[in-house]
Amino acid sequence: MPVPEPLYALTVHEAAELLARREVSSLELTRAVLDRIHQVDDRIRAFLTLCEDEALQQAREADGRLARDETSPLMGIPGAIKDVICTKGIRTTCGSRILDNFVPPFDAFVIERLKESGFVMVGKTNMDEFAMGSSGENSAFHPTHNPWDLERVPGGSSAGSAAAVASGEALFALGSDTGGSIRQPACLSGVVGFKPTYGRVSRFGLVAFGSSLDQIGPLTKGVRDAAIVLRCIAGHDPRDSTSAEVDVPEYEQSLVPDLRGLRLGVPREYFPEGMDQGVRDAMEAALRTMEDLGAEVDREVSLPSTPHALAVYYIIAPSEASANLARYDGVKYGFSHTEGQDMWDNMEKTRQFGFGDEVKRRIMLGTYALSAGYYDAYYLKAQKVRTLIRREFDAAFQSHDALVAPVSPTPAFKIGEKVDDPLQMYLSDVFTIPVNIAGLPAISVPCGFPGGLPVGFQVIGKPFDEATVLRVAYAYEQATEWHKRRPPL
Ligand code: GLN
Repeated sequence: MPVPEPLYALTVHEAAELLARREVSSLELTRAVLDRIHQVDDRIRAFLTLCEDEALQQAREADGRLARDETSPLMGIPGAIKDVICTKGIRTTCGSRILDNFVPPFDAFVIERLKESGFVMVGKTNMDEFAMGSSGENSAFHPTHNPWDLERVPGGSSAGSAAAVASGEALFALGSDTGGSIRQPACLSGVVGFKPTYGRVSRFGLVAFGSSLDQIGPLTKGVRDAAIVLRCIAGHDPRDSTSAEVDVPEYEQSLVPDLRGLRLGVPREYFPEGMDQGVRDAMEAALRTMEDLGAEVDREVSLPSTPHALAVYYIIAPSEASANLARYDGVKYGFSHTEGQDMWDNMEKTRQFGFGDEVKRRIMLGTYALSAGYYDAYYLKAQKVRTLIRREFDAAFQSHDALVAPVSPTPAFKIGEKVDDPLQMYLSDVFTIPVNIAGLPAISVPCGFPGGLPVGFQVIGKPFDEATVLRVAYAYEQATEWHKRRPPL
């Protein structure tokens, strides 16, 4: 059989098959991806750091392991890593000036796992500074462009990871999701993005933003690949006290092409009046496809606290961020201002010049919310509403196997359109944030191209029931053609 071209357009599982049959080597595959990066990344700008020499070395090693019949689903597969995940010996900036020169002395848990499985790291991807943003424009370095329309944002904060997968600059990528940062860019860039249950994947070596919300997950061209990557990075790690000791199933086994016997709920608060017509139409068509596949779709579900989720998030996430970001003081690592009058002056200037506007805004919001006299009114109240939101999801899952909702309220917006209006930017995540607040697993799957731009839906699952989420996503994907579209670059 002829090897399909171009190699960079392969999915993870297609590439793994060719590698296993020795029809392609990891070196060839890696070179094809690196060539693709050189061909398109001056337009996309998905990467902050390229690791070409390391990647070619890892590819040779993977070819050696394959020759010894070592098998693993990611052996020799080129992937890209969001620059918020620590990589030993490779600069990790979090999209921030303050970590411009930071080279971690250790690998994150997920990187250890990927390396054991023999993946090839082509580079570190661009992101909103410290993962705060929904467009990639808050990167201290440069914006990333949407492969479907270079004048538009790819979504954020995992902007580079989504754009890299969409444009063939990596076969898969890792992102992080605190309020939507995997799912929203996946949706706007036309790829699959999966945020696992809080506790499913270790956060060891993930630079902390909102510690009670952060979770690492895959961005891929399809659902099967998401299952493969998740299976590799999931599991207990004693170095993250919130990582759960729960068995990790063979996710690929739950990928069946029908939805018979499943009851899916559609929360009505996720279909507000005045909603974008293109998104609404794509959602309606997707729900009909799910019915055709045998699912029972219940449109009478209600999650009444949904309208409060954004406010709750913008108390809890900045509060946690203000504590987490206190460590960047110019003393221990990263950028350091040294020309000040004394230590305090240097610390202040380090933070003044090292952090961008959005990060400062979050630190101020969080510090205010946690301050004496305000704590009860803001932080404590937000935690109480968080409990309500979680309970409403629990109740919905009593009688439904999974929930289906939009991911982003609109398709990709123009670069520059929302940078000066933080509230508009925050609203990009209204449909994704409740899921983080409740700690649930959710996947974003492409379901249409209104006006030529991708949109997606999310499947939200019970805690640790990633298998059902993947099953719903997979059956839908296989019944449609959206996942086969590639941007015209
Ligand atoms: N856009 C949201 C924010 O700015 C979510 C970001 C994320 O998930 N990391 O906080």
